[in-house]
Amino acid sequence: MTDCLFCKMANGEIEPDLVYEDDEVIAFRDINPQAPTHVLVVPREHIPTLNDLQPRHAELVGRMFLAAKEVARKEGIQEGGYRTVVNCNRDAGQSVFHIHLHVLGGRPMAWPPG
Ligand code: 5GP
Ligand code: ZN
Repeated sequence: MTDCLFCKMANGEIEPDLVYEDDEVIAFRDINPQAPTHVLVVPREHIPTLNDLQPRHAELVGRMFLAAKEVARKEGIQEGGYRTVVNCNRDAGQSVFHIHLHVLGGRPMAWPPG
């Protein structure tokens, strides 16, 4: 997808503040952080929303969570705790239509979320 912000970050056209990368996913700091740690785990493949996931993505989704765990370790929030979030479409407030896993931590999180 030539016009997708997160595809441009994954292919190096735009340089994000990288925290982690491997052959399947990248993770970088959110430009508008909602917590002391706010990192986005993004697959290199362009998948617009959670609704577009296919059975063939099963391993990729697992890789996204393994990357989130690694981000939490690097950020020193593993033991204190953190939240992972995927927003899907309008009611969840999705604003970038390339699937991503938010990793938020470094402060207590309210429940239920707003
Ligand atoms: P969503 O609302 O789709 O779940 O999350 C999109 C996230 O992408 C938001 O938290 C927003 O701050 C972040 N974001 C939007 N544009 C940029 C950008 O250019 N760079 C970075 N690092 N994050 C961005
Ligand atoms: Zn994309």
